[in-house]
Parts: sequence; structure tokens; C-alpha cells
Amino acid sequence: MSEKKIPYKIYLEEHEMPKKWYNLRADMKNKPAPLLNPGTLKPMTADELAPVFCKDLILQELDDTTPYFDIPTEIQDFYKMYRPAPLVRAYCLEKHLQTPAKIYYKFEGNNTSGSHKLNSAIAQAYYAKKQGLKGVTTETGAGQWGTALSMACSYFDLDCKVYMVKVSYEQKPFRREVMRTYGASVTPSPSTETNVGRKILEQFPGTSGSLGCAISEAVEVATTSEGYRYVLGSVLNQVLLHQSVIGLETKAALDKYNITPDIIIGCAGGGSNLGGLIAPFMGEKLRGEKDYRFIAVEPASCPSLTRGKYAYDFCDTGMVCPLAKMYTLGSSYIPAPNHAGGLRYHGMSSTLSQLYDDGLMEAVSVTQTDVFKAAEEFARVEGILPAPESSHAIKVAIDEALKCKDNGEEKTIVFGLTGTGYFDMMAYEKFHDGKMENYIPTDDEIAKSLEKLPVIPNI
Ligand SMILES: *Cc1c(COP(=O)(O)O)cnc(C)c1O
Repeated sequence: MSEKKIPYKIYLEEHEMPKKWYNLRADMKNKPAPLLNPGTLKPMTADELAPVFCKDLILQELDDTTPYFDIPTEIQDFYKMYRPAPLVRAYCLEKHLQTPAKIYYKFEGNNTSGSHKLNSAIAQAYYAKKQGLKGVTTETGAGQWGTALSMACSYFDLDCKVYMVKVSYEQKPFRREVMRTYGASVTPSPSTETNVGRKILEQFPGTSGSLGCAISEAVEVATTSEGYRYVLGSVLNQVLLHQSVIGLETKAALDKYNITPDIIIGCAGGGSNLGGLIAPFMGEKLRGEKDYRFIAVEPASCPSLTRGKYAYDFCDTGMVCPLAKMYTLGSSYIPAPNHAGGLRYHGMSSTLSQLYDDGLMEAVSVTQTDVFKAAEEFARVEGILPAPESSHAIKVAIDEALKCKDNGEEKTIVFGLTGTGYFDMMAYEKFHDGKMENYIPTDDEIAKSLEKLPVIPNI
């Protein structure tokens, strides 16, 4: 290998940026299980999905054989405003840890929404516009997805209705105002605007809401309003497809300097950033060309891969969405108030679930205080103030780098730094004041939630 000095930041030239998304499913021998119609328990067809999702997105969702999809020029042009995202060599972190490991991170926080979610939001808004729709509905938890989608919708002049989990609506007024700045309407969920919202409020008066409940509301509004469809910021195959831009850029940047990673690490909520980051590398592994270690990092308070069950489950609390086979804690699982709002979903992308079940990817869970310790350590040497979600990946990257130090191994570690944490300073405050708690569910709690999984006869 040539001894080229690796710059602090590896950027791609505009002409080197990906022009196609990569569909990892095309290279999987064991395909992710299909979405099922909750009524008939048969695989959902494109026609059945049409009232809920945009046409072109349904085609992407159901396609597990086409390896590449062209990125439409309009989306490429939008990407150019904030991409390529830099691949940063963490020289300062390496020095601080005194590790022989080489650490790189792909930084997705360089846009106003502050996370990778814009990569899929702009694609979904584009296809909605192309279909001639008036607008889209969605849910948001911590607010990153709603923010990204409101930016994308204003770019394509689409109406954007966001159902925001009530507790976040109240605790994160700044996120809410960013969304409204971009023209979105933001409703705290559960609301009295929908049947499902009213039902949930009757059953659980005073509830502070959940992601699953907000999804049910957004779906109801999309399917009962002319010219609207529902869009989702994670979990779905189409979202992983759009997020493959992260991995494709990372791979192109590494290839420029002949760097081959040993370990690739990402945080996993619904699985979209991790699925996107690892996609081209996992493709090589699946095709038998190369081998890598992949590590998914999840919060100990919401451990779907490490402690959940691989089964068909509802995607939402109201049970109106299709059933997905995934590692799940049960759709009635309400995670403890963890500060990584983007990692609080009860299930995991069906693609990542299948890869994990096939032993092609590892998973670990980490506690909140360890995550914030790592976040702070990282911020102090690398400068970037990381999102709590992203800091899960930082924590495990540091752990792996320290193992290299103990063993004298010069491994190359790449991790996904999905976003910035400016809207999470209340969480940082709790950490600094020593008031942050680690909540780890008992086996019993998880078992109770899993008892309510739908019963699916063998198909
Ligand atoms: C939403 C979010 C995540 C988790 O979502 P995935 O779909 O698992 O990628 C991670 N980091 C940030 C900053 C987020 O906003």
C-alpha cells in the first residue's frame, strides 16, 4: 500500500458522488421476510400499499432483486447542497486514547436538520411530488425526522403534517419551531384529531404518547385525506435504500486511499443509518469478496436486537400498519424515558434483523451514562457535539479502539456519526448534574410485552 498521508477529512469531488443507491437485499440469499397484511396474513401487494405509501416508494419497498436504483437528478442536486458528508480521520481521538487503531467517522450532521434523516426525507418528498400529491403525513419522536421531512417538503412545495410524540412536543419546543419555520404543521400525539388518537386518549388519559401511537395517527390521516400519503423515516427497506448513500460515499472515500476497514459500527434505532452505512460493505461480504465485522449498537433501555424476539409484529400501537418480521420487544413495549429519542423504537429493520439472525452482524447494548461519557470524551477532542443516538456508536468505537491498544492491534475502525446534539442539551445537563439514570428492563417486562405478539400461522 502506498504511504499516502491520510487527510483529516476525506471529501469526494462532485463527480465522485454516488449516482445510484444500492439495494442490499439483492445480494442477500435469505431475503428479509415480506410485510404481511394484518387482515389476511398474506404478503402485502403493491395495490394494498397504494393508499398508504407513494407509488414509486412501494416499488422500492417490495423490490429485493434489483441491485441499483438511479438517484433522480433532482435528488442528486439537493444532495449537493450538503453532501458529500466528510469522512473524518479521528487523529485527535486516536491520540487521546493512545491506541494503534485507526479511527474514521462519517459525519452526517452537516445540515440544518442535524442528522442523516434528510437523505431519505428528500427522496420521499421527491416521489410524493412526482406523483402529484398535495402532501404527506408522518410521526416524529425526538424531532429529527420531522425536521428533515419539513425541510424536504418545503423544497418541493408539499404540505407536511407531523404528529409529534406529546412528551417531545412539550420538552423540545425548539425542534417544533424549526419544523414550523419550514412550513410544517405539528400536532402533539395522541391528539383528538383522529379516531385512533381519541381511542388511545380514552384508554390512557394523560398519556405522554409514543412513536407507535403517533404512527397510527399519521397513517389514519394519510389514508383519509385526498392527495396525501404517509412517509416514514426509518425501519422500511426504502429508507435503507436511500441511506445507502452514506455507505457508498464512505466506501468511495476509503477506496481513494486504499483503506480497508476491519470493523464498521453504527447506532441502531430502526436501522436506517446503520443499514445504509454498511450496505456496500455487507454486499461484498455477502458476495464472498471481503470480510468485515459489523456492530449494531442499541440502548440497554430498548434492546430489540440483543434481547428481543425475531417474529412478526405490529409496527405501530394502533395496529393499523402491516406486520413486519423483525427483532422486536413487542409493539406494546414502552421504553423508559431514554435521552436517545431516535433509538426508542420497539423493532428493527427487517433487513438488518435477517442479517443479524444469519450471524452476519453483531449487536451490543450500552447504558445511557456510558454513552454520555463517551460523547463528552469525543466532543472534547474532536470538537463535534454529538447527538445522543450517534454517541452509542462512539462508545463502542472507543471500546474497540481500547481493545486494539491492549492487544497491540492496528485495526481500522469506521463508525457512523449520525448527527449533532444541540437540541439535546437537557440530556447533557442531566448527565453533568449526575442525575442521569440507567434503566434496564427486566426479563419479565420484556416477556410480558412479547406475550402480546400477534399469532401468525406458518406461511
Ligand atoms: C433517528 C436517528 C438515529 C436512529 O435512526 P436509524 O433509523 O436507526 O438510523 C440515529 N441518529 C440520529 C442522529 C437520528 O436522528
